[in-house]
Amino acid sequence: MSFKNLGLCDQLLKAVKEQGYDEPTPVQKEAIPVILAKRDILAGAQTGTGKTAGFTLPMLELIHRHKDESRKKHHVRALILTPTRELALQVEESVSLYGKFLPYKSCVIFGGVKINPQITALRKGIDIVVATPGRLLDHISQKTIDLSKVDFLILDEADRMLDMGFINDIKKVLAVLPKQKQTLLFSATFSNEIKKLTDSLLNSPVLIEVARRNQSAEQIKQIVHPVDKTRKRELLTKLIKEGDWQQVLVFMRTKHGCNRLSEQLSNDGISSAAIHGNKSQNARVKALSDFKAGKVRVLVATDIAARGIDIDQLPHVVNFELPNVSEDYVHRIGRTGRAGNKGEAMSLVCVDENEFLANIEKLINKDIHKFIVKGFEPDPSIKAEPIKMGGGGGNRGRGGNSRSRGNNKPRNGGASRGRR
Ligand code: AMP
Repeated sequence: MSFKNLGLCDQLLKAVKEQGYDEPTPVQKEAIPVILAKRDILAGAQTGTGKTAGFTLPMLELIHRHKDESRKKHHVRALILTPTRELALQVEESVSLYGKFLPYKSCVIFGGVKINPQITALRKGIDIVVATPGRLLDHISQKTIDLSKVDFLILDEADRMLDMGFINDIKKVLAVLPKQKQTLLFSATFSNEIKKLTDSLLNSPVLIEVARRNQSAEQIKQIVHPVDKTRKRELLTKLIKEGDWQQVLVFMRTKHGCNRLSEQLSNDGISSAAIHGNKSQNARVKALSDFKAGKVRVLVATDIAARGIDIDQLPHVVNFELPNVSEDYVHRIGRTGRAGNKGEAMSLVCVDENEFLANIEKLINKDIHKFIVKGFEPDPSIKAEPIKMGGGGGNRGRGGNSRSRGNNKPRNGGASRGRR
């Protein structure tokens, strides 16, 4: 897919070309069409994914499509909030860069510097404001900024803003914005605080989550253990016990499979909890906190359930079943080996899953090392069978490598989060 297919105007395409970008990054491919369709988004993308262009380009496009010819003066149409001055500067730089062939003006507002030049700039007329919450509130209380015509609110690194104690400032800012607007929220993690904020702030958001670039990176040791389907549990138990693994995240394709495996592991003497879309919020929170606290050794999860939880830097991630959507493999293994920590991602692969494996290897552009554990040699007489997607985690037409997660969301309200 090229930038041209995304429906951006020539001025933006020219700016992108000048940057030397050949094609959109995954977050750009997913986010740009959804934003252009005027949906709110909740995006789990970190720095390095190309997220800034992912929201800046469609924001500029929509501002341009809906420009108000009758208005001579610029007025603030987009507000981008960031936790730090550095990020505010970086984002504003991107806005200027991508918008260089369009007539819109942007400025950056943060504390620790004189307020007067900011007031002067605002008075002259600004279309896009990139701000940290504290100084923005100063402008709001001094009535030196008018945010009553904001069409876009973008919260960048929302989790960091909350960590830094900006929640009340954010609420005060929200109070002066129009109710009717498009809101885009980016966060690397999805804590309960973020969920609370998103519930009140976003309107039927489309969930977008992409891995970091080069996610399937060197520090993650990936390995495939070929094994018969009926012996996977036995093998997993052996690996956990012999390796003395204390914290393992295990992925399943279905909710039913999660429950069953969790029970079986507990029967094998390995403390375990299941987490998936049929579990109540309380049950999920408890499973997760027990896992984090080391009370439970294994957390068995579906892809979607694992998305919303802020666990990473795990030493062991196991694909008890390979995902039918190849990108999910990258998300799953991205739970380990972060920030220079060593991590291990292991996949137990039976003959039925060979096609999934081939698709994954194609996506990550590498062959994953195969190692047959002694005593668990696959029976060559077993023929591959089609994979049934039961337990509510049915194959909803998401097979293959090319689906856009955003486009598979229901369009008719309700948080557009798949529940598996
Ligand atoms: P960000 O995640 O927004 O901080 O962007 C990370 C880096 O990726 C920045 O240096 C961007 O210039 C660069 N970048 C953004 N989009 C693309 C693209 N489509 N192709 C190549 N590089 C990109």
